[in-house]
Amino acid sequence: MSTEFVKHLNPHPATDEVREAVLQNPGFGQHFTDHMVCIDWQGDVQENVGRWENARLQPYGPLSLDPSTAVLHYGQEIFEGLKAYRHEDGSVWTFRPEANAARLNRSAQRLALPTLPEEVFVDSIRELVAQDQAWVPSGDGESLYMRPFMIGTEPFLGVRPSRQALYSVIASPAGNYFGSVEPVDIWLSRTYARAGTGGTGAAKCGGNYAASLVAQMEGDAHGCSQVVFLDPERDDAIEELGGMNVFFVFDDGRLVTPELTGTILEGITRDSVIQLAEERGLTVEQRAFTLDEWRDGVRSGHLTEVFACGTAAVIAPVRRLVSNDETIGPEDAQPGEVTMSIRQQLLDIQTGRAEDTHGWLTRLV
Ligand SMILES: *Cc1c(COP(=O)(O)O)cnc(C)c1O
Repeated sequence: MSTEFVKHLNPHPATDEVREAVLQNPGFGQHFTDHMVCIDWQGDVQENVGRWENARLQPYGPLSLDPSTAVLHYGQEIFEGLKAYRHEDGSVWTFRPEANAARLNRSAQRLALPTLPEEVFVDSIRELVAQDQAWVPSGDGESLYMRPFMIGTEPFLGVRPSRQALYSVIASPAGNYFGSVEPVDIWLSRTYARAGTGGTGAAKCGGNYAASLVAQMEGDAHGCSQVVFLDPERDDAIEELGGMNVFFVFDDGRLVTPELTGTILEGITRDSVIQLAEERGLTVEQRAFTLDEWRDGVRSGHLTEVFACGTAAVIAPVRRLVSNDETIGPEDAQPGEVTMSIRQQLLDIQTGRAEDTHGWLTRLV
């Protein structure tokens, strides 16, 4: 049985002209569709009781929160990110939503927020996209980016898990995240960490991003658009970027990606890349990857490609690693063959140009 959403339709949706102007040049995360989905929760995670209620589709707009609301003080916030793709026949699909639903619940457990039944997660996305389907762009590399999130909403300043929560989904038409597939330079942060052992590194929560922004500023100041963080247990192993996982491609058919130690976010793109790479006969090693290995690999020529991956940017080729001490990688690096071919394969599956042999797609409209 699918979740029933009460519909409060937006009396002033964007006109066709306004929407089409936005879809001409969507950018990323700047424009939102006419509606949002909201579901309220009350209960007690400590007692393992509670209920989701008042599922509704409503006009996109500001939330009204009491100034004492839990999330504003102790940061109980988690989120997800996934995309809706328009296929050539006009139908709209999304990629592995059950994996996002499961991850939302793992994040919820870490942040002492309530879990949401996986089918409600998928229904909430379908509800929003069905209503706002005119906002799903159809251009190459374009999609509707969906942002489910959950916050603790109890108005109470005591330090304990919030006894009220809001789950919501908003959606924003998205162009190509980085505009192109130009390789990016990434900054090695030695001053800041994004995660600690036993911390929230594996949870998709706003707090991790808040902690990464100052490192991002440091990277920006050094001409780098992304930051890579080190393993909190050791200062010589790469962990992940602020919002993307990372892969290293060797000329002997090996791919190396840092293993999931509890401080790395378990990317769904990462998992999909591993599967696609193995099906091509590449060997994927999930283990610690050191700075020495990066440096030596570039020097010997055996490390041929580096790329980062995540839903927003899909796969982004990495050019150089920049730090206070050194720069690793050639200035003239072009996007690598393996990088671009896996990227294309993933995009082809998502947009329906290649057969979905893994059962990764779910039809929304
Ligand atoms: C969301 C995210 C990723 C990528 O996950 P995908 O499921 O591939 O989008 C990687 N690292 C961090 C820190 C993230 O928040």
